[in-house]
Amino acid sequence: MAVLTPPGGSGPLHAFSIPMRVRFRGLTRREGCLLRGPAGWGEFSPFAEYGPRECARWLACAREAAYTGWPAPLRTRIPVNATVPAVSAGAAHALVSASGCTTAKVKVAEPGQSDAHDIARVEAVRDALGPAGRVRIDANGAWDLDHALRMLRALDRYDLEYAEQPCATLDEMARLRRRVNVPLAADESIRRAEDPVRVRAAGAADLVVLKVQPLGGVRAALAVAEACALPVVVSSAVETSVGLAAGIALAAALPELPYACGLGTIGLLAGDLTEAPLAPRDGWIEVRTPSVSPAELAAHAAPLAPWVERAALAHARLEYA
Ligand SMILES: [Mg+2]
Repeated sequence: MAVLTPPGGSGPLHAFSIPMRVRFRGLTRREGCLLRGPAGWGEFSPFAEYGPRECARWLACAREAAYTGWPAPLRTRIPVNATVPAVSAGAAHALVSASGCTTAKVKVAEPGQSDAHDIARVEAVRDALGPAGRVRIDANGAWDLDHALRMLRALDRYDLEYAEQPCATLDEMARLRRRVNVPLAADESIRRAEDPVRVRAAGAADLVVLKVQPLGGVRAALAVAEACALPVVVSSAVETSVGLAAGIALAAALPELPYACGLGTIGLLAGDLTEAPLAPRDGWIEVRTPSVSPAELAAHAAPLAPWVERAALAHARLEYA
């Protein structure tokens, strides 16, 4: 495996590149590096387009895992949702039935698909889960206000748990929220630590989706959750099990966890860096820290130099994280 210590005292790094089973954010491989310190392993895996200042928060998250460790968990397992991509109604029904989850998130507003496709997919998922299941949708900000109003009214009969980022802007989200009964969740509206408080101030959402790496770690995310005082759904950035463990640590440390989390994502990767992946079973993930496998690290090793450079540049910006 490739190991090198970058300037700035970030500890030894191990770069990885793992193929994706399902294309995500246009990516066919998930790449990043692991950082080892006295408290354990951290994952630093900012997406390629992020610059040093944004990467600093992702590095802070890895450093917390490696050097500080996480607050004590308040729960031993975390409920997670099944994620239904923009597939046919039949495929959606089969996927949810096989997942063992009682909550499903259905992707809608896929380019090239009609509203009728979305409605049929949500109907199939409601049918698969039965009346006690929870169905949420995620439009990734793709609808304008009128379209969102139309769709939330059409989908109301399937008893939505919430709608995630139906519109792109805070203004549209706030106007929509005043006109529908379905709770709204902010996801893409939250990229920085100050965003959740802005979301709340704008009246744009009933709950927030938080990810630990972009917010700078478990403690930083807990502070954000406390400051914005809205219910939190913890979601992954499609990390390996090493990075997922940080999201699970956040979900385990939140005082309240009223919703299933978006942390059941290890299956999107065609490999992992541990022999005991943090995979959901019957809709739950155990709260534990997976041990890193040297054989898996070697099997997925990638060129280290670009990661040493990214970590060093991010390290220089840590004071802004
Ligand atoms: Mg989302």
